[in-house]
Amino acid sequence: MKILVLNAGSSSLKYKLFDLDSNLVLASGLVEKIGEERAHLIYEAQNKEAYEEEAPFKNHKEALEKIISLLLDKKLGVLKSVSELQGVGHRVVHGGESFKTPCKVNEEVLKGIENMIPLAPLHNPPNLEGLKVSMSLFSEVPQVAVFDTSFHQTMPKYAFRYALPEELYEKHGLRRYGFHGTSHHYVAKEASKYLKIPFEKLNAITFHLGNGGSMAAIKDGKSIDTSMGMTPLEGLVMGTRSGDIDPAIPFFLERELKMDLTTIDKLLNKKSGLKGICGKNDIRDISELSKIGDEKATLALKIYSYRIKKYLGAYLTLLPNLDTLIFTAGIGENSTLVREMILKDLNHLGIHLDQEKNKHVKRGTIQEIQADDKEQKLTKILVVPTDEEKEIASQTKAILN
Ligand code: ADP
Repeated sequence: MKILVLNAGSSSLKYKLFDLDSNLVLASGLVEKIGEERAHLIYEAQNKEAYEEEAPFKNHKEALEKIISLLLDKKLGVLKSVSELQGVGHRVVHGGESFKTPCKVNEEVLKGIENMIPLAPLHNPPNLEGLKVSMSLFSEVPQVAVFDTSFHQTMPKYAFRYALPEELYEKHGLRRYGFHGTSHHYVAKEASKYLKIPFEKLNAITFHLGNGGSMAAIKDGKSIDTSMGMTPLEGLVMGTRSGDIDPAIPFFLERELKMDLTTIDKLLNKKSGLKGICGKNDIRDISELSKIGDEKATLALKIYSYRIKKYLGAYLTLLPNLDTLIFTAGIGENSTLVREMILKDLNHLGIHLDQEKNKHVKRGTIQEIQADDKEQKLTKILVVPTDEEKEIASQTKAILN
């Protein structure tokens, strides 16, 4: 079964074509800077030469048309005809309370995604655009929307409600939704297979640490809490996002520093987090700077891992029968230092990292990094590579079947 997965951002379009029967990625790549003079396209396909192009793709439609022409190209392509595609799966960031599972897209679903725009003004419009463009170009192919929020729809009310007037929830949907659900779900399923624990019985804490970052507490295979909220700004310290702050800080910024709302929004989403503390947002750069004694970089790493540790402490109280901690995404999979800083001095809680195993994590496979444990008393600590696109492809397949 051949499934194309699309992830449309405001000026980007990521794509990955899967053959799920042979478990192969046939082609993948992205177009960046859509709408600008020099948009950049990258295309890679199984056993074919890689292809790059800089061209002014005016919009997502032009970008997708180019991707299709490459997929069908005699020399570089991997499809003979578009009819070989059995489905297109789309990443949609916000599904609100309406979309508790992925679903096949029709007019009603498009309307539902549009209704969610006030909650995700930056993400849902390009996701919707991607869907519409794909529906117009692949009119015969069924389209499926997979939501970042769905996996967390099992959170209980006391975890998802804010202590705000009820009307704001009832009428305007102000509540915590959580994001990265596709990734938390995928790595937890992978861990359950690896540990041979049925997914419905798995108790785990997942750490999705990439440019954006979130954690989830998973009880009996269901998300019962997660660190992101109504938007992806809440929770952990991220590359450029502040995560949790005193909600009164924006009042101060407006009152004393005369910032308007757009400026404050940009400050909290794009200029804060690791970047705000030390000027860099890539953990690789920050780790290097810290090694040579840069105090700001060291402080950034400390604040970053301290916040994660506090969430870990909170989630441990929710999961008395915890099976495993799961690290994933760019930082979670690759940063020995960050994992070590988070998990330091937790032996009293049955969390004991093996320094050597932590140092020698092999990329691309599931690894156990807890200390040797003959009595099986320690919590497993796993590094599990995430693959959101693959999860979207398999959810798409499940819906279409
Ligand atoms: P996104 O949230 O954009 O999908 P990723 O999950 O790819 O991001 O994570 C990107 C981040 O992962 C980078 O900003 C960097 O901090 C970190 N990262 C990537 N590779 C490494 C590495 N080898 N060592 C440490 N950190 C890494």
